[in-house]
Amino acid sequence: MDQRAATLALPETPRSFGFFVDGQTIEAGPRGHFERRSPGHDVPVTRMPKCTKADLDMAVAAARRAFEDGRWSRIPAVERADVLLRAAQILRRRTEEIAYWETLENGKPISQARAEVGGCAGMFEYAAGAARALHGDAFNNLGEGMFGVVTREPIGVVGLITPWNFPFLILCERVPYILAAGCTIVAKPSEVTSATTLLLAEVLAEAGLPAGCYNVVTGSGSTVGQAMTEHADIDMVSFTGSTAVGRRCVAAAAGNFKKLGLELGGKNPQIVFADADLEDAADGVAFGIGFNTGQCCVSGSRLIVERSVARDFEAMVAAKLAKAKVGDPLDPETQIGAITTTAQNDTILGYIANGKQEGARLVCGGDRLDFGRGQYIAPTLFGDVTGTMAIAREEIFGPVLAVMPFDTMEEAIAIANDTVYGLAASVWTKNIDKALTVSRRVRAGRFWVNTTLAGGPELPIGGFKQSGWGREAGIYGVEEYTQVKSVHIEIGRRQPWVG
Ligand code: NDP
Repeated sequence: MDQRAATLALPETPRSFGFFVDGQTIEAGPRGHFERRSPGHDVPVTRMPKCTKADLDMAVAAARRAFEDGRWSRIPAVERADVLLRAAQILRRRTEEIAYWETLENGKPISQARAEVGGCAGMFEYAAGAARALHGDAFNNLGEGMFGVVTREPIGVVGLITPWNFPFLILCERVPYILAAGCTIVAKPSEVTSATTLLLAEVLAEAGLPAGCYNVVTGSGSTVGQAMTEHADIDMVSFTGSTAVGRRCVAAAAGNFKKLGLELGGKNPQIVFADADLEDAADGVAFGIGFNTGQCCVSGSRLIVERSVARDFEAMVAAKLAKAKVGDPLDPETQIGAITTTAQNDTILGYIANGKQEGARLVCGGDRLDFGRGQYIAPTLFGDVTGTMAIAREEIFGPVLAVMPFDTMEEAIAIANDTVYGLAASVWTKNIDKALTVSRRVRAGRFWVNTTLAGGPELPIGGFKQSGWGREAGIYGVEEYTQVKSVHIEIGRRQPWVG
């Protein structure tokens, strides 16, 4: 049996993890633990320490010491880059193991989890280069007696709160960039998907990251997460999750005016013109809502389609969704896995019931799928959706697509912008003028033309409007974790103030 096939069995007993502070793994001991059941199989797979506020204080103190003594923040960038590059190599070597635990806790297909870990290695490689490329500015235009320099300094200790939909990918869209900037980290993963955040601690230690630079405190959002946003010795919090908790982060951050990066919800439009390659667009739209069971902040959950082709296109998307393979996340053929949490499963089914009640026309899906164990929902498409329905306005975070027809480009843009969110959008057309006009007028932080959910280490991510603050990834994602300092340098003798 090859190693890959060997990992595809369920664990016989749940794996117990410790949390990670100052280079040491600390067992749960008297704290007790959370037990996680695989959403695809409903068997216990992991056990995580129930950390306390005191554990968080210990981790923040370690990160503070590591930051202040310069073991990471003041070494040459080339040495930081070496560590990040080694981490990328180790990630590639340990892909199978990381993907396996990610799939067990999250319910996403194993093939997708493997691809995500590969993408994460790329993030570390990019960030290694970015660490060395990061620079300030100089002003040689201030006159004979004055020279100006602008430097970028690491912001300090960063608290990182990550969600359960992409536990490892979202982590790695941040950690290498934060480290590239010279900061130290205390991470708090979602209590239901903490395993791979802890595995990253092993990877970074093996890569040579000094102790104290990456710490992980497991625990619930309402205790450890909330305490992190309130913590007086954390300089910045990067939070990814719901808009409701994002609002709480803003209030909590006021205590020490810590900087916040927020990546929140989305209700992302897919605009399809009649002149698009409709076969291509149907595939992209199905992918945009089916990928990760629609549990992406950037899922394309509103299909805004030109009326003349709306019915035909709807049928094409429905056919694609019906063909996508839903099932056991450990099956390498699976394309759509399980719904990650029971609460999220109930939320999605609630929205589907609401769509039916409000009079939307069910085109496909519309119910749970029974595979004997685990929680699964059929990809669902609703036609005749109006702008006032909840399924058109609220983030469902599941495989539910709402179709709204339009007659003119202006109308399409207006519908796309009729939301409090502004995370992502796509347009499908072969007309360059339409593609450019729509991409310039729709208010979203990420925009795709004739594609969707594309991404990588180079381009920044983040939202307009209530989808968040700041940007992650790309060179912008490193700069977010720096502060700018202006230095005025007098050349020669100063003009005396007192003669
Ligand atoms: P949350 O916003 O509650 O969770 C996101 C992260 O925040 C988790 O690590 C969570 O920890 C933590 N958290 C929870 N409460 C607090 C708090 N008071 N202070 C600081 N951190 C906290 O998302 P949910 O899991 O409740 O999902 C609800 C909805 O949020 C979804 O239906 C979806 O609409 C949206 N969502 C959006 C995501 C995105 O990528 N933008 C990701 C996930 C959810 P813990 O899980 O341990 O409680």
